[in-house]
Amino acid sequence: MTHAQDRALPRAVRLAMPLARDVVEEVAKLHGVCIRPVPLKRLDTHTGQWEIIDVPCGSPMDSKCPPCAKRNKQLRKAQCREGWHLDEEPTITPDEPSEEQRWLIEFRADIQAQRDDTERNGGDTTDLDAVIEGLDEEINTAGMRGNVLGRATSKRSRSTRRRQDAPDLPKRKMAHTTLGRTFQAPDGRTYRPSLFVTLTLPSYGKVRDGAPVDPETYDYARAARDALHFSKLVDRFVQNLRRVAGFDVQYFATVEPQKRLAPHLHMAIRGTLPRAEIKQTAAATYHQVWWPSVDEVVFEGEHLPVWGEGAGYLDPDTGEVLPTWDEALDDLDTDEDAEPLHVIRFGEQVDVKGVLAGTKDADQCIRYLSKYLTKSLGDGLDGQARQEHAARFLDALRYEPCSPTCPNWLRYGVQPKDAKAGMAPGRCRSKAHKPEHLGYAGRRVLVSRKWSNKTLAEHKQDRRTWVLEALGKADEPIDPHRYVWKPVSVGDANVAPLAVRLLRSVRERQRWRAHMAELQARADGQDLSATEGRAA
Ligand SMILES: [Zn+2]
Ligand SMILES: [Zn+2]
Repeated sequence: MTHAQDRALPRAVRLAMPLARDVVEEVAKLHGVCIRPVPLKRLDTHTGQWEIIDVPCGSPMDSKCPPCAKRNKQLRKAQCREGWHLDEEPTITPDEPSEEQRWLIEFRADIQAQRDDTERNGGDTTDLDAVIEGLDEEINTAGMRGNVLGRATSKRSRSTRRRQDAPDLPKRKMAHTTLGRTFQAPDGRTYRPSLFVTLTLPSYGKVRDGAPVDPETYDYARAARDALHFSKLVDRFVQNLRRVAGFDVQYFATVEPQKRLAPHLHMAIRGTLPRAEIKQTAAATYHQVWWPSVDEVVFEGEHLPVWGEGAGYLDPDTGEVLPTWDEALDDLDTDEDAEPLHVIRFGEQVDVKGVLAGTKDADQCIRYLSKYLTKSLGDGLDGQARQEHAARFLDALRYEPCSPTCPNWLRYGVQPKDAKAGMAPGRCRSKAHKPEHLGYAGRRVLVSRKWSNKTLAEHKQDRRTWVLEALGKADEPIDPHRYVWKPVSVGDANVAPLAVRLLRSVRERQRWRAHMAELQARADGQDLSATEGRAA
C-alpha cells in the first residue's frame, strides 16, 4: 500500500489497523530473525556483482533486538561453559587482528559517522546506536582488548607519586598455570572444583522493593560514583585475587543490575581458593580515583567558561585560560594534602559458592550468570517509587564527571581532556549518564584472556560449521578477499523497506528450518531401518 492510499483511508479505519511494521516485527521475533538488520553493499570480486546483504544488528540488549540478544546470550553461555572447568592449559594464539576484526573496526567507524550525521540533522539515532553497541561487543570479543576509540589507557608517566597503595593481603609465589587444584577421591576419581562468586557494592541507605526507604538520606552521590568506577574496582579485585591465589586465575564475569539499580558482579572462576581468602580479598580491595576535586562548583547556569580558539576554555569574567586536564593532575600530584576524589570498595555481602564440573549446580550458575545479560541496568522499573529512584539517580549522575573527557569538568573549573568547542556541563553524551546505563558504561561481560581456547567469534564459527554439516554442505574455507563490503548511504533507493526485508529473512529462516527438519526425519528414518534390520 502506498502512502497516498494510506492517507485516503478514514482516520478511524487507519487507527484500527495494526501498524504493519509492528506486526512484521512480531513475526520476525517469532522466527528469531534480527529486527534491526543493517543493510550493507557487498561486492563479490569473483563475479563482479554488487548485492545488498542484511547483516544482523548483533545488539546484546533485549530492548533493541530480542532475537539478536537471545543469540548473544546463548553464545555467552557456551563460552562460559567452555572455560570454567578446563583441565588443560588453553593455547592462546597472539591477538593479531584478523581480516574480520579489521573490517569490524572500519565498519564501526563508518556507522559512527552516519550516526553523528543523523544526530546533527536532528534525526533518530536509536537504530544506529543499537548497531554500534552490537559492533562494540563483537569487536571486544573478537579477541581484541580495549576500546576502538582508543580512550582505554593513556599512559601518564608523570603521575607516579599517587599510585594505589598495595592492599594488606598475603602474597603467594606465582605458579605458571591457569588451572586450579584437583582433588583425588579415595575411589580414584578426580574432582576439579571451581568457584562462583557474587560481589556487591555497599549500602547507600535502607532499601525496600528496590527503592530507598528514605530518599532524603540515601547516598546518591556515592552510588553514582561507585557505578561510574565499578569496572576499575573489578580489575583491582582480579589483580589482588591472582596475588593471593598464586596462579593465573581466569574468570568469566557478568555485570548485572541489582533491584536498587547498583551494578553487581557474578564471576565464574576457574580453580578454587578457600572461601575466607576470597572474602578477605574482597574486603581489602579498593580503588582510589585520583581526579581533580569536584567539591566546589565554579561555573553553572548561564555563567559558563567560553571557548577561545587556539587557547581552550577561558574564565568568562577574567579571560584567564582554565587549567587543562594535565595541569590539574599535575597540581594534584604536587599537593601534599590532596585526597582522592573517590574511594570505591565492595560491600560486605560477598557470596562464594564451590561448584563441581558437569553438575546441575554448574549449569544453574551459568544460567544465573547470564540471566539479566539482555537487560539494561535501568530496564523494567515497575512502580512509581522505583521510577522516582531511577530519576534521582540520573540527577546525581548529571554533573558527575564520568571520564577525563567529560564536559562536566567545566563546572568545576577544569578543562576536560581533549577539550573542544561546544562543551557544556550537564550535557555529556557518554553512555554513563544515560538511563539505560545508570553510571556503568563498561562491558557487561568480562572474560579473562586465558579463559578458553575460543573467542566468541570462534563460537559463532562453530555454530555455522554445525549448521552446514547438518545441511550436508562442506564448510569450505572462505576466501577472505572474496567480498568487499561498503556501508549503504541513508535513503539508498536499492534498499527495500524494512518490512519487506524482515519478511524475506523470515522466509529464508522457514526454508532453512524445513530443510533441517527434513534432514532430521531422514536421519531418524535411517535409525529406524537400522533397528528393524537388526530385529530381522
Ligand atoms: Zn538484531
Ligand atoms: Zn560524562
